Amino acid sequence: MRYDVITLFPEIIEGYCSQSITKRGAQKGVIEINTHNPREFSLDKHKRVDDTPYGGGEGMVLACQPIFDCFENIEKKENHEFIMLTPQGEKFNQKLAVELSKKEQIILLCGHYEGFDERIRLGLKPREISIGDYVLTGGELGALVLIDSISRNLENYLGKDLSAHNDSFSEGLNGLLEYPHYTKPREYRGMAVPEVLLNGNHKEIENFRKEESLKRTKTRRPDLLS
Ligand code: SAM
Repeated sequence: MRYDVITLFPEIIEGYCSQSITKRGAQKGVIEINTHNPREFSLDKHKRVDDTPYGGGEGMVLACQPIFDCFENIEKKENHEFIMLTPQGEKFNQKLAVELSKKEQIILLCGHYEGFDERIRLGLKPREISIGDYVLTGGELGALVLIDSISRNLENYLGKDLSAHNDSFSEGLNGLLEYPHYTKPREYRGMAVPEVLLNGNHKEIENFRKEESLKRTKTRRPDLLS
């Protein structure tokens, strides 16, 4: 999977991706992450990428030229998806993460300031994705959320001991929330590990986990049951 992130703040993307599992994913060659700064494509003599909005109002608007030129300079694989991060887009979820993990390349466009000149949306026709009903300062956190969650579904991305198959919202759990986990010690501050997890009976453990998963989903996220 190749990610190309269009951002005015490449250090944010590079900082996160140079750590932990994302770093290992890149070292293994399962993912490749490239950043592209529209400022480098600005034809303005001061390398400006934004300007004041027509019609007045607060904030600065990202201008067309640096974004169009930056996007067009990226080499595209046939099976790619171009995504604009925006609070006005379709809401991101696990199903979308799995769907996008089937692509070969994902191009992520991060906004900043007041957002984009509308002609970027009209001219480049990105798929618009939001990570939630709140407004962030920039699209970088959104891009990282997508990179992280999409990559978890790629083969050989997670180590042998980790699997996305039984995570909350996954197919392995029929889209429900995951059951609780316990590790050593058997008792901590009067709280004991459920007996069923200690008896080695795999069928019973499986049933217990299924029940707990269902119970949790019913109380916390009944909307998932439908
Ligand atoms: N004025 C815009 C609006 O009201 O729709 C919000 C602009 S926001 C301050 C700046 C940038 O942050 C956006 O262009 C987008 O790239 C990113 N952003 C903010 N909230 C987001 C969200 N919930 N999901 C994805 N990206 C978001």
